[in-house]
Amino acid sequence: MSTLYEHTTEGPARGRIRLLQLYPGDMNIYGDWGNALVLARRAQWQGYDVEMLSYDRGQELDEDIHLVVGGGGQDSGQERIKEDLLARGQALRDMAEAGTPMLVICGLYQLFGHHFVTSGGQEMPGIGVLDAHTVAGPLRLIGNIAVESEGFGTVIGYENHSGLTRLGPGARPLGRVRPGEGNNGEDGTEGARCHHVIGTYLHGSLLPKNPVVADWLLARAVERSGRQWDPVAVEGPLGAWTDRAREVALSRPR
Ligand code: GLN
Repeated sequence: MSTLYEHTTEGPARGRIRLLQLYPGDMNIYGDWGNALVLARRAQWQGYDVEMLSYDRGQELDEDIHLVVGGGGQDSGQERIKEDLLARGQALRDMAEAGTPMLVICGLYQLFGHHFVTSGGQEMPGIGVLDAHTVAGPLRLIGNIAVESEGFGTVIGYENHSGLTRLGPGARPLGRVRPGEGNNGEDGTEGARCHHVIGTYLHGSLLPKNPVVADWLLARAVERSGRQWDPVAVEGPLGAWTDRAREVALSRPR
């Protein structure tokens, strides 16, 4: 459990956000670590101190956490963490049910569901935070993707997975793919949400091009830390850069 603590405001901070990165040692492909960096920086711009914690296999899990992020991984990475994740399943389910915001990408999205069956037929049990079942298909679903979401507008990213995910009644999708394959290439859905948990196939990393999602997660984290989310306008060219990055990403062929 390593910790990086940064105080960046001149005066006293508005509060402290404890941000946990799950399994960065095994589950962090396609730059998904970038999601944690975006959340930390945007929290600092809002005047919060940020304590960045990471949890890897066999370490102590600190449950006094305001925000959890986890990345994707190859089948082999999922295989390495599956037992440890199962052992942490109850704690993570309790945290989710208590309202802790979580963002899990691709491979961890799959293992936050009920199970993931690999293309080799091997079943990996999940922890059931999300009501979702994943079975690998014969082809990989790869390419640029955009999702028309409820509450976040168009969410833009990149997908690369063999898993085909189907949602149960306890989860709602992040949105509908426009274009892209999404959860399974058939029902038009992408991602899964329940409580304040978002599971999605979108790598990129996701949050630099989707600040609306980042700030929604931050708002829930600030509330989880016992404070009111009252954002200030962030000055400077960032908005224009983000808009340009979104334009370019949306103009790219599938
Ligand atoms: N190994 C999983 C799959 O192929 C997840 C891949 C990922 O995290 N990008 O579906």
